[in-house]
Amino acid sequence: MRLQGKTALVTAAGQGIGHASALALAAEGAQVWATDVNETLLARFAGVANVTAAKLDVLDKAAIDAFAKTLPALDILFNCAGVVHNGAALQASDDDLDFAFRLNVRAQLWTIQAVLPGMLAAGRGSIINMASVCSSIKGLPNRCVYGTTKAAVLGLTKSVAADYVGQGIRCNAVCPGTVDTPSLAERINANADPLEARKAFIARQPMGRLAQAEEIAPLVVFLASDESQFVTGQAYAADGGITI
Ligand code: NAD
Repeated sequence: MRLQGKTALVTAAGQGIGHASALALAAEGAQVWATDVNETLLARFAGVANVTAAKLDVLDKAAIDAFAKTLPALDILFNCAGVVHNGAALQASDDDLDFAFRLNVRAQLWTIQAVLPGMLAAGRGSIINMASVCSSIKGLPNRCVYGTTKAAVLGLTKSVAADYVGQGIRCNAVCPGTVDTPSLAERINANADPLEARKAFIARQPMGRLAQAEEIAPLVVFLASDESQFVTGQAYAADGGITI
């Protein structure tokens, strides 16, 4: 077991990549606190070994701080929560930009601020932030607000990596291509022609298919584990070739 004896906090673990990653971390022996704002989704963790499910809204700073105080010192933080807004620059509203920065960026900083003191006291920790290839790595159509905030995630990741590299803390980002998750299905179904929309998402993936969440989780396990102990400040893509 690659994560035996380690403790992990995962945000947005109710579905999609967060869910698959929480299961993968637990399967490797980590004690996982799987959190989400949606308590109904968390029922899926009932009976899963090594997983404690708990409601946590990462837009609520006080809730994050209070929750972190109930946890033992963490070895792993996977910041997975995020939102995707549709539209180019001319469609980007102030409200969307504000909300996306709050959920995609500020919430990650808040969870980091809540768990970092414990990691520093222990002299070790791996922080993994969910970014995307749609960020400073690549521009994608109709993802202005999203790509802007995910680029900021890479900035946050490198900042944390740089500041704490001498104190046993590593911080890396995961950058998926298009992953077949419930929210992607919603984005597809919001189109006038969902079948065509799905085809278009698939067409932009050189491998000719979408990823499954279980294909992103191994990257999270790697970055969480000591196998990546020389790795920090990096943006790891698992993208089906979209950035070739
Ligand atoms: P998803 O979008 O289907 O599910 C998101 C989860 O986040 C839900 O369980 C939801 O309840 C939870 N959530 C929403 N607001 C929250 C809050 N305030 N506090 C706590 N939890 C909250 O899952 P997904 O598509 O796997 O996306 C997860 C992350 O991966 C996001 O950051 C997303 O930007 C990123 N990502 C997704 C893709 C993709 O194609 N699906 C690609 C690259 C990056």
